[in-house]
Amino acid sequence: MSAESVERIVERLTEQGIDVVRVGYPDLIGTERGKDVLLERLPEVAESGVAFCRAVYHTSPQGDTVAVPGGLDLGLPDVCIRPDLSTLVELPWEPGVAHCLGDAYDPATGLPLPESPRSVTQAAAARLAELGLTGVVGPELEYFLLEPDGAGWKRYDDAPGNVYVTGRKGDRGSHVLRSLRTLRRLDIGVTMGNHEYSGGQFEINLNHSEATDAADRAFRFKSAVKELARHDGLMATFMAKPFNDEGGSGFHAHISCVDGDGRNVFADPAAPYGLSATALHAIGGVHAHASALAALLNPTINSYKRFGPDTLAPWLNDWGLDNRSAMLRVPPERGAGTRLEVRLGDASANPYLGIAGLLAAVYLGIRDRVEPPAPLEGYGYDTAKAAVLPMSLPVALDAFEADGELIEVLGKEFAASYLAYKRNEVERFSQSVTDWEFREYAYHL
Ligand code: GLU
Ligand code: MG
Ligand code: MG
Repeated sequence: MSAESVERIVERLTEQGIDVVRVGYPDLIGTERGKDVLLERLPEVAESGVAFCRAVYHTSPQGDTVAVPGGLDLGLPDVCIRPDLSTLVELPWEPGVAHCLGDAYDPATGLPLPESPRSVTQAAAARLAELGLTGVVGPELEYFLLEPDGAGWKRYDDAPGNVYVTGRKGDRGSHVLRSLRTLRRLDIGVTMGNHEYSGGQFEINLNHSEATDAADRAFRFKSAVKELARHDGLMATFMAKPFNDEGGSGFHAHISCVDGDGRNVFADPAAPYGLSATALHAIGGVHAHASALAALLNPTINSYKRFGPDTLAPWLNDWGLDNRSAMLRVPPERGAGTRLEVRLGDASANPYLGIAGLLAAVYLGIRDRVEPPAPLEGYGYDTAKAAVLPMSLPVALDAFEADGELIEVLGKEFAASYLAYKRNEVERFSQSVTDWEFREYAYHL
């Protein structure tokens, strides 16, 4: 079946009462960049794309800007965003507007930009396809909701007792219920939602699907939740660990692989644990590359404050059977539901890069038949049993840079851009005086 022509799409959207298409581009750190395009200009934009200024990322309301290779050093040239019309969907909260994801190209060469996160995911998925496998991912994202508090923000509806899966408690504005209903209309496969462990923290689950599609849906989910919160005068944050006295927000990724017949190749009822050799090799791959993966799945300075013993977030590079104290849990379902739940990632990760990294590690593990260590027995967080994960962004970035195999799959140019951007972030942080320093030193010294 041939794809619907752009002229036909314009006709159809006009009939639906839509007159604007918002083209959203996920940038390197997973922020949505967008342009609103009048519907009558869509055929032209579908052909030649829309132009954005390349590679300057604004990272703070104070206006910090950062350039990555290809940006300032080239004189701030254009990047071309070409809409992927197969992703068009009506925006439930913005009457008359449809939303569409875009891919970034170099206008000079017509090739995807190395720092285009969607392309990085597609590249990793293609490598897995060389083994005859399709990566399937189910994303789980946690986030905090905040409400205005004078000039700042405090946790939303944060009364004592508002803890894990406590129904409507802790959600006087029915945020979860209303979000679920709205997100259903966005067609991103949301399934259910609940209050999480911490006051003001929530989780909404997404269905599983092919990895790039799952990354698209996770990216759209994060943008949508932030947008819906804004409409309610609230702020949703996917920051990894916003509060000292509460747990962090995870981005758990449920991963399996299917063969050309759609059969889950991680299941083997006759093998130990009901897991195939392929599943064990996939675990071996994630284990072997975990330190480098942290650079993608735990991409901020703040991310490493989520790690630690007794947190439900990981601390050690280990795996276990239905064991939430491990970095990688194998949930108890078998057969078609056999999967790995990688708990390493935090919610601040760019879903494209996190998922791309995981696919690359799974690919390498299966390709090289990497054996994992024995599964964790009992409660984890015991340094006698496994190594501690990187505990800071600079350490993770060094591990990523040193992981030539992972970089070969994800792309050398992408890795260079990413490392340049993130090292600049580390540099800026190291030059900035924090509240903690003031509290610790100002009085006594
Ligand atoms: N909030 C925990 C994390 O950061 C996960 C809690 C859970 O198991 O749902 O990963
Ligand atoms: Mg959770
Ligand atoms: Mg989970």
